[in-house]
Amino acid sequence: MTDTDPEPKTAPGPLELVQRFVNSLDYPHGPDELATPESAARWIEAATGDAVEVSPRDIKRLVTARETLRDLLEAHAGEAVDPEVPVRLQKLLSCAPLRPVLTTDGATLVVDCGGVDSLLGRISTAIVWATLEGKWSRLKVCRSDRCRFAYYDHSKNGSGQWCSMRVCGTREKARAYRARRRATELPAG
Ligand SMILES: [Zn+2]
Repeated sequence: MTDTDPEPKTAPGPLELVQRFVNSLDYPHGPDELATPESAARWIEAATGDAVEVSPRDIKRLVTARETLRDLLEAHAGEAVDPEVPVRLQKLLSCAPLRPVLTTDGATLVVDCGGVDSLLGRISTAIVWATLEGKWSRLKVCRSDRCRFAYYDHSKNGSGQWCSMRVCGTREKARAYRARRRATELPAG
C-alpha cells in the first residue's frame, strides 16, 4: 500500500458534521464533548448554530448514536461490520423526521424537528447527501483499535485504512510485524 496521506482529512460539505460528531470523543478515554448536558449543548451550538436544551436522557441517545456511527464507519475502512449496526443506527436516527422540499429543479430533504433531534436529523440528511455524491464510503474510522478517529479518505483510489499513515499506519504495521515474528519464533508442535 502506498502512503499518499494527503491533508487535510476533513470531510466535505455537510459530511463534516458527521465527522465532527464521531470525533466529539477523543477515543477511547476522552475528553468527551458530549459528557454532560452543558458541554453537549455547547458542542451542538458550535457545530450547528442551534441553541438546544440537552437532558441526561439525550446524552445517552447521542452517545449511543455516535458510537453506533463509529462502528458503522469501520465498514468503509474494510472491517467486517455486523449487519445489525446500520439497523440500530437507523432506529436511533428515525426520531428526527425529515421533510422533502420541492422545486421545479428537484427535491431536497430538510430536518423537520427541533432540539437535540435536529442534530440527528442533520446527520441523516448529510448521509443522504454524501451517498448521492458518492462520498459516503470515504468517511472512515481509523483501523487502529486505539485510535478509531473519523477521517475523510482523500486518496486517489480511496483505499486508506488509517487516519494517518505516519502515526497509526506505521504503528499497526510494526505491531503486525512483531506478531508475525513471534509466531515464527514459537517452537513447532
Ligand atoms: Zn488513527
